Amino acid sequence: MFRKVLIANRGEIAVRIIRACREIGIPTVAIYSQADANSLHVRLATEAYCIGPASSAKSYLSIPAIISAAIVSGADAIHPGYGFMSERADFAEICAKHGIKFIGPTAEAMRKMGDKATARQTMIDNNVPVTPGTGILKTPEEVKEFANRVGYPIILKATAGGGGKGMRICRSDDDVETNMNLCQSEAQNFFGNPDVYAEKYLENPRHIEVQILADQYGNVVHLGERDCSIQRRHQKLLEEAPSPAIDEATRKEMGAAAVRAAKAINYESAGTCEFLLDHDGKWYFMEMNTRIQVEHCVTEMISNIDLVREQIMIASGEKLDFTQDEIMLRGHAIECRINAENPEKDFMPNPGTITGYVTPGGFGVRVDSHAYQDYAIPPYYDSMIGKLICWGRTRNEARRRMYRALKEYVITGVETTIPFHQEIIEDPVFMSGNFNTGFIEDFYKRTGKDKK
Ligand code: ADP
Repeated sequence: MFRKVLIANRGEIAVRIIRACREIGIPTVAIYSQADANSLHVRLATEAYCIGPASSAKSYLSIPAIISAAIVSGADAIHPGYGFMSERADFAEICAKHGIKFIGPTAEAMRKMGDKATARQTMIDNNVPVTPGTGILKTPEEVKEFANRVGYPIILKATAGGGGKGMRICRSDDDVETNMNLCQSEAQNFFGNPDVYAEKYLENPRHIEVQILADQYGNVVHLGERDCSIQRRHQKLLEEAPSPAIDEATRKEMGAAAVRAAKAINYESAGTCEFLLDHDGKWYFMEMNTRIQVEHCVTEMISNIDLVREQIMIASGEKLDFTQDEIMLRGHAIECRINAENPEKDFMPNPGTITGYVTPGGFGVRVDSHAYQDYAIPPYYDSMIGKLICWGRTRNEARRRMYRALKEYVITGVETTIPFHQEIIEDPVFMSGNFNTGFIEDFYKRTGKDKK
């Protein structure tokens, strides 16, 4: 087992990883920017190093700063969490060169799945259905040619994209003319790579993703799916497992496809295959996330498997100690992302000081958060300040528990998404389980909030 694990991240995920390490008995090293000196992960870790100023580029994204902290502290492994360095193949290679184990897949596997266009090709080669699409396209003419073959609408995507950014829907040739340049320059600005490609755009599909775990010896299992269809501008707000739209046969097929994909690229660690499910029940591979995801907790709640612990065990060379047949999914779990944002003001980020903080508790309730009373949320990073996860024997039980827990969760001093989640949880369409990625837009129309 590792001597010491450095956590190259901040916020709730850094806290989450420290907790897993502590349970295994591994000392932890936190790194932090000057803006995060009072962050909870700094207090919880065994030791902590300030690695730079507030700007992520000079701290959480600075490879020399992170590697130096690992060397100085004597850490022999780095957990990257999500975001920041988590999908940087070059970083994984640099860790290896310094004799530090990157807790995640190999650089090679990351490269095969890292860019969306290559990932799609890997899937096609392994008989996993993908949406009709293209390779990298350079001109609007090439896009129009594709669109006129498969029919509008289509979506332009940055091949290096992520986090809902670098995507543009086109419904006509004119849209292609306008969007192609915009998409390419957005891709360059956000991801440092201008390449874009096109896919057939499915109208309001469901977003279904399958969690997998793979060890270094070719053993791969899946832990069922998560439904992440409740999104705002392609960003997830609420997730649940299992999906109300998936039956046992589809779960098996999708799970098998995800396992096949992982085996094809000799994947190790935790990973997620994302799929879109169409209105007629057809599903298509969209991309693979080669890291732990924000919403991993709903899978943990129904499988009773600690995914971060598994990542650490796998990285240290342990074999998976359960088979597919031994994985039992029980009950239902829902996660609400608690963001310091104002839903009344178009979800504007709302950093500030938390003046009052009381978390919910009780049976089946889990809070993963780095927030506490008097914590000043720095304005430089993502606005998520926590996740509330509730388990129930049935979807309805989980939903009612979530409603109860949201009512108990008190955060004062900053606006949060808590009141918004309460409305979603009680919404009849959400309750029915019959919704898709158009849910939030439709919810705004139905409740008249779009006119405010
Ligand atoms: P990111 O990597 O930025 O998260 P994804 O490729 O995972 O981007 O897509 C994010 C979301 O965008 C999906 O969950 C879905 O709502 C929407 N989306 C992406 N591709 C398509 C498509 N071909 N048709 C319809 N919706 C899509």
